[in-house]
Amino acid sequence: MSMTATRWWTTVLGVGMAMAMGAVAAAHGQDEAADDEYAPAEPAPTEPAPMARVWQIPSPPPPPMAWVPAGHFRKAQRTPATVDSIVIHTTEGGWRQGMSHEDNQFRAFLGNINYFKRNDRSVSAHYVMGPSGEICVMVNETDIAHTQTYYNARAFGIECVGWGRRPETWTPEMLESLVQLCAYLCVKWEIPAYQPEGTAYVGPWSTPFGESDYRFNGPGLLGHYQMQPWNKSDPGPHFPWDEFTERVRARIREFGHEPIPLPEARPALAVGSAIKAGIKEDTVRAGEAFTYQVIVEGAGLVGLLEDSHVRFPDFARVNYVSATGRPWRAVESTNRIVYEVPLMATEARAFTILPAMVRVGEHWYDSGEVMRVNVAGASAADSQAP
Ligand SMILES: [Zn+2]
Repeated sequence: MSMTATRWWTTVLGVGMAMAMGAVAAAHGQDEAADDEYAPAEPAPTEPAPMARVWQIPSPPPPPMAWVPAGHFRKAQRTPATVDSIVIHTTEGGWRQGMSHEDNQFRAFLGNINYFKRNDRSVSAHYVMGPSGEICVMVNETDIAHTQTYYNARAFGIECVGWGRRPETWTPEMLESLVQLCAYLCVKWEIPAYQPEGTAYVGPWSTPFGESDYRFNGPGLLGHYQMQPWNKSDPGPHFPWDEFTERVRARIREFGHEPIPLPEARPALAVGSAIKAGIKEDTVRAGEAFTYQVIVEGAGLVGLLEDSHVRFPDFARVNYVSATGRPWRAVESTNRIVYEVPLMATEARAFTILPAMVRVGEHWYDSGEVMRVNVAGASAADSQAP
């Protein structure tokens, strides 16, 4: 090994944070194909695949991070289609009198990491930020952390250690790390690098939910107070939103990307007209498998609709059909969820299926009319039977 190479390795490996980054890459490695973007670029193919774009302009690199796994999270295979926001928090929590702000903040940093490793409230976050810009990764990017109730599936949760009411929480080092982390996530996960206005109660992203409830429904860089104005105020009045979002966009541009703007705010979920049910295949044949689909469309559905809110027809009671498996969530994006039920036509006879039902807030909506399904080979007379 030459002198130069030795010195380079010594420099890289001598820095604790660089070691920590290696640990993060190793921990993520098997789960995330997207992490391949740190490998050396391949020569461009003649017919560039969509991913080739990523190779030509790398994302801004993430800041150094250490990996400590959280005790609570939901395993998932999230993609940019299902993630559209980053939620910023302050941890709040205990304050020790007679101890400096710095000491309190550092103590809280270690305390929060330990808390997310194991706690009896099933909470966690993707990232915990320390006062000197330290970052601890606790949940994989593709998995869902338990940080902000109904926004977990669509968001990254970042816990900044500190207190919203204390301006000294926002150290320059923590802000700089936060900017770097968010610029990296915004590019890699195609998240708008702007803060949408308002809260669950007011503004263009406020969405009625049931009779007397509201949900926030905007993508981008968010504060916890926006989705839970009823019980949360973090990251608090001293967080420099304008400076922060401007710096995230500047860093994204520095690496040759254009920040993604906020989309037009969509009208409130119009689920009544956005539930469709049908047969996936063109033709249903006796003795063959086919698929019943329920498609639900609406802004930000991934955060609003739980699987238990979908009621499928009772196929055990449909003549000439048998269910060969359970309903499952086949495809989802932030605005569209498709459920599928695998079925089998037992005879060459037409059958009828009652509408699917979907609950949003306190209301049940249905997929429309009773559906009549013809089976290939069934006689015309039978097909028209009531
Ligand atoms: Zn919070």
